[in-house]
Amino acid sequence: MSEPVPVSGITCPNCSGGRLLIFKTKHAGRLTIRHRKCPGCPYRVETRETVRAVLPPPKKSG
Ligand SMILES: [Zn+2]
Repeated sequence: MSEPVPVSGITCPNCSGGRLLIFKTKHAGRLTIRHRKCPGCPYRVETRETVRAVLPPPKKSG
């Protein structure tokens, strides 16, 4: 069984809908908390976004 790959990478845990719409964004320190709504069912999910690491800029080639 193969499922379509969602664009956002986050799917609804209830109906596996892949297009969760952001309707609220909160900032708590370095954390960004987003509340998302599933268009296919009444469920909502909360996601957290944070910086895990700071990477150096890529080397110039050539
Ligand atoms: Zn859903």
